[in-house]
Amino acid sequence: MPGPDHGHQPALRAPSPATSTVAFRQFVLKLHSRCDLACDHCYVYTMADQRWRSQPRAMSQRVLDWTAHRIGEHAHTHRLNRVDVVLHGGEPLLAGATRLEAAVAAIRQAAAPVPVRMTVQTNAVRLDEAFLRLFDRLGVRISVSLDGDRAAHDRHRRGPDGRGSHTRVETALRRLTTGFPHLFHGLLCTVDLGNDPITTYRSLLAHQPPALDFLLPHGTWSNPPPGRPPDSRPGPYAQWLMAVFDEWYHTPGQRTRIRFFDEIIQVLLGGTSRLAGVGTSPVAVVVVQTDGTIEMDDTLAATYPASARTGLHVARHSFDAALGLPTVRAQQAGAAGLCAACRACDRHRVCGGGLRTHRYRASTGFDNPSVYCADLYRLIGHIHRAVQRDVAALRAGTP
Ligand code: SF4
Repeated sequence: MPGPDHGHQPALRAPSPATSTVAFRQFVLKLHSRCDLACDHCYVYTMADQRWRSQPRAMSQRVLDWTAHRIGEHAHTHRLNRVDVVLHGGEPLLAGATRLEAAVAAIRQAAAPVPVRMTVQTNAVRLDEAFLRLFDRLGVRISVSLDGDRAAHDRHRRGPDGRGSHTRVETALRRLTTGFPHLFHGLLCTVDLGNDPITTYRSLLAHQPPALDFLLPHGTWSNPPPGRPPDSRPGPYAQWLMAVFDEWYHTPGQRTRIRFFDEIIQVLLGGTSRLAGVGTSPVAVVVVQTDGTIEMDDTLAATYPASARTGLHVARHSFDAALGLPTVRAQQAGAAGLCAACRACDRHRVCGGGLRTHRYRASTGFDNPSVYCADLYRLIGHIHRAVQRDVAALRAGTP
């Protein structure tokens, strides 16, 4: 198994000249570059790109104003009917109530009359009554990172002192779900093969989230994720996710969406996916760091240093300038941007080669199938068979 390859920047394969770009629709704002937890699986702090160390801790008011102006400019230029903004970090609540409120107000004002859907992605450790009232007043939906029950969650999500965060997150979730359920956007869980899939799923479901996101731990061919040797044996992550899928899919009246499965089903039925890492739709997400630099998908931090860099800054450049860059065009190239093996794969329309970050290998850049190829192929086949059975039953008029 190859070891980590830090610092090497491979040449990117040029995207197809025919590839056109689509406007950004989701803006991820790094309001604070530090975190009050020290999770050992966090892609921001523990992987190849360590530039967070030189970022200002918090986004200044000047950078906030420039960012808001650029979002408004982009929304108006492209006549978007809505934009999505994710207040992100690090841990965004570390930015404090005043800055959070200023960010929301500045962006809404700059984008008007285009509506802005705001979400905060938080570890919930600081999510107290005051923050909940603030988000209620501002109309900001809340997505919380939770890896399962206490044992599952505290295996990784611990503070710098080693103390688990599950108790604090559970308290915050209780406050959220009892007092402000309308703000609850969902839970985000990083898969750990060491946790039982059904126990994990049920412990997440106990909080009655409207949606669940299961994330595969970030890794590459050069620095593979845990338990994922870079070979083509049937994947252990597929097995884990298939167990969750079976329980979710076969539970009548299930109201919690699992976005990964929903989007796969959507593409299988002939639609398009809005989730990066499923299908071949262009990725329409852009990131603004605390210093105002414009970057691509921040999970690229798992590949090599500065891989997400565009060289652009909100003070001097529009988001359209980013759309013109070869690296962004490559990210938006869809099926044309896949390697030959993926283009020849019978599941590539649904899989889309997985998340771009997971295709990286130091020697060949992103011109590879996903490091999760075997898992994705198997999972998609499993979901396909379940959907096919139901479609056939519907056609035959059987329940
Ligand atoms: S299953 Fe593998 S080969 Fe097929 S599209 Fe996905 S990553 Fe590529």
